[in-house]
Amino acid sequence: MDGAWRGVGLSRRTAVATLALLAGFATHPAAAAEDCPGHPNALGTSRTLVVDPREHPRIGTMQYRETLPLADHEVVLTFDDGPLPRNSNKVLDILAAECVKATFFAIGDMARIYPEGVRRLLAEGHTIGTHSQDHPLTMNHMPIERVKQEIDGGIASAKAALGEDADKLAPFFRIPGLLRSDELEQYAAEKGIQIWSADFPADDWRHISSQRVYDLAISRLEAKGKGILLLHDIQARTVAALPRILETLKLRGYRIVHVVPATADRPATPTEPQQWLLHPSPDAIAQWPQVPKFVYAKLGGLPVPARSDFDAGGEETPVPHAGSLFSATWPEPPELVAENAAVSLASPAPSVFELEGGLDVALRGAALSHLAHRTASAAPAGAKRLSRRELRRLRVARAGHRARGTANASKPKTPTSRHARVKRIVQVRKRSV
Ligand SMILES: [Zn+2]
Repeated sequence: MDGAWRGVGLSRRTAVATLALLAGFATHPAAAAEDCPGHPNALGTSRTLVVDPREHPRIGTMQYRETLPLADHEVVLTFDDGPLPRNSNKVLDILAAECVKATFFAIGDMARIYPEGVRRLLAEGHTIGTHSQDHPLTMNHMPIERVKQEIDGGIASAKAALGEDADKLAPFFRIPGLLRSDELEQYAAEKGIQIWSADFPADDWRHISSQRVYDLAISRLEAKGKGILLLHDIQARTVAALPRILETLKLRGYRIVHVVPATADRPATPTEPQQWLLHPSPDAIAQWPQVPKFVYAKLGGLPVPARSDFDAGGEETPVPHAGSLFSATWPEPPELVAENAAVSLASPAPSVFELEGGLDVALRGAALSHLAHRTASAAPAGAKRLSRRELRRLRVARAGHRARGTANASKPKTPTSRHARVKRIVQVRKRSV
């Protein structure tokens, strides 16, 4: 099934290759007008980078030693968890208007429900990787047989959606929640699958504003100067933030790189090994901190801390949490990264401690219990009666509470309708990486 992923030779490392590299890394403007018909000021895609998963099985400095061999001001856009037409199609429209190519990590379940969404990714020239069959947030301690099912199932679903073009699926995999394990990585490597972490997220799966998504995407990119940005095409806040992100990339001279897998007919872009590292130095090695023990709230939706929790700048402040706490270790210590080595470890973001369902749900719950209390205490004594407005609020709150309770309680294993299946999947996706 992955014949096309095998048999790719080693990169040629010749003087000619070096010249080609230098040409590719030159700071020329991105796409020229002729590259994006009808959009003369488009950001465009500056170059295509062909990578061989067998040479570089794991990438992304959030977790790994290696990352893509990008030049300064080069950016790779990645989108997880789709396709979900409502928002994924808007993301695709925005990218198309700028002639920007990205990498999408599709979930098998979503590909089964919306195969047309996967086919659109291909038709528009994007790279399609996979993100497991069912997006479990337990792959770090799953039996290896289950891990294999998730990886293989996601690939099979995406290939089924692609039909005759199944061989166009890239052997790129992003682990749900970035919850790695040695066994998982070993299995992926054996299959010639490249595991993609990222260089920075924009926290767009959290309950934050689109403005915040924009701010985080740009500030983290500016801090690193290049890298793989992790986004989610199923999120409305990402749809809202994306045009401004692309506009800012354009204004600040960033260039989009499109990544595709090497095949027998398409050799990997020649690179040098050190280009896959983020410039480690002896000082960085000496100062590299221990892997932090990270404590976070067990809320079911935030399996790992965001990398931002370790970023410099103190942009977020810790919030005490009285709930059940347990400790977890960041999946793997990032290694020998100069930029990171100088960073003092900040505290977890407040959003890590968010109440499930968000603050508005919590407040509504408080209002509900307050109103219910008033109803109970008012009835027997005939004391103060609830106003019509309060009664209406109570009815609305109770109806909402019942609806949520039903939704939480039912969670059908075999949803009957497409809508129900999507709802179930998206409910999980919306709270996870
Ligand atoms: Zn995900």
